[in-house]
Amino acid sequence: MRVAMIGTGYVGLVSGACFADFGHTVTCVDKDASKIERLHQNVMPIYEPGLDDLVASNVRDGRLAFAVDGAEAIRAADAVFIAVGTPSRRGDGHADLSYVYAAAEEIADLMDGFTVVVTKSTVPVGTGDEIERIIRARRPDADFAVVSNPEFLREGAAIGDFKRPDRVVVGTDNERARAVMAELYRPLNLNETPIMFTGRRTSELIKYAANAFLAMKITFINEVADLCEAVGADVQQVARGIGLDNRIGSKFLHAGPGYGGSCFPKDTLALVRTATDAGSPLKLIETTVAINHARKKAMADRVAEALGGDLKGKTVALLGLTFKPNTDDMRDAPSLDVAPALMARGATVQAFDPEGMEEAAKLLDGVVFKEGPYEALAGADVAVILTEWNQFRALDLDRIKLLLKQPVMVDLRNVYRPEDMRARGFRYFSIGRPLDA
Ligand code: NAD
Repeated sequence: MRVAMIGTGYVGLVSGACFADFGHTVTCVDKDASKIERLHQNVMPIYEPGLDDLVASNVRDGRLAFAVDGAEAIRAADAVFIAVGTPSRRGDGHADLSYVYAAAEEIADLMDGFTVVVTKSTVPVGTGDEIERIIRARRPDADFAVVSNPEFLREGAAIGDFKRPDRVVVGTDNERARAVMAELYRPLNLNETPIMFTGRRTSELIKYAANAFLAMKITFINEVADLCEAVGADVQQVARGIGLDNRIGSKFLHAGPGYGGSCFPKDTLALVRTATDAGSPLKLIETTVAINHARKKAMADRVAEALGGDLKGKTVALLGLTFKPNTDDMRDAPSLDVAPALMARGATVQAFDPEGMEEAAKLLDGVVFKEGPYEALAGADVAVILTEWNQFRALDLDRIKLLLKQPVMVDLRNVYRPEDMRARGFRYFSIGRPLDA
């Protein structure tokens, strides 16, 4: 199959490289010329484990190419994927579909022969109908089908997720499109991945319902963590105790500073909007959004409390800035709320992140960036773990004790064990684990 991937970001680049690895011929298109230029030199525009090798080998074998101008690739394609961004529209929380519709217009003008136009971007219910209308208006006699094929990969584990997904969802009523999609994903038959065919609107909603459910699950355990602190229980054990029940499942039950990232915040907001507009509000998700928003803002208070309530003149060492480990993605990361809130209370913030500092520097005015964790900790009044990168899991605690002005740690990811930290002489604060639990 010949594939054109419009948008070469976290999703487009990973999906394109994986489809090429499945044996298809793929061109990843992006209007950001600097991204394509870097890819031509095999420099990855994003940090994603294993991606550089996957891209290099498929480029070498002639199955993967990159272009700024998508004309040739779109004309030749059996399937054109739209994998452009769908950020929150400023002001109202609706998904901003301008990139998606612009891509649809470009595709309409260029496609040739029967073409399956696939939305991989996360788009609200009904977007497929609008894409179909846009294309039909520009090319009344074109032979095409618009299919929804949402992506469920996680940054940091994206290649494994794409190649071994729990399921693939394809929304279409068109038989010819269905055959093309089945052929594209045929290599997944080997590991018996369920490929679920649905109506297009259903498929579009599945993606939002999945993300909203996961965001709600995280928010649930975060609230339970607060209750644990109030009543002297341990949230880690509560999470394990409920997670072992198959009906609940153990994933996404890690209490922390609140969810962030490029998907959950914008997708929960967009789903709330869709539901309100449809006259069928989702109160659970509205509440989830509100709780999470307040939680991220409240994390600075925890740091202040650890230092006796006042941050004026204090130095805070922030370890981790990205919304989760193994990515350089800073979109809606909790650090974007926490660091400014600390500075607003009069603290100086010195920070380190293994992959996110280049992006963070554009977003976090006033933060002093350091080249390593120990450099960030030197001279600080408190260490705050904000992202659970592996390299923060086994820090040299004796060295930290010497570097900090006083041995205080606020661990917002529950990386360390309270009893160990106490034994080493730290005043240690974590999430949902009171000292006497
Ligand atoms: P991204 O911002 O990393 O990438 C989007 C890319 O599209 C950018 O490089 C941009 O230059 C390019 N682009 C925009 N308009 C274009 C056009 N007309 N022609 C060519 N290129 C164009 O975004 P992302 O994180 O890859 O997300 C893409 C979509 O996938 C979103 O809808 C997102 O919600 C969804 N999604 C993301 C993830 C994730 O983990 N990032 C997971 C599942 C789904």
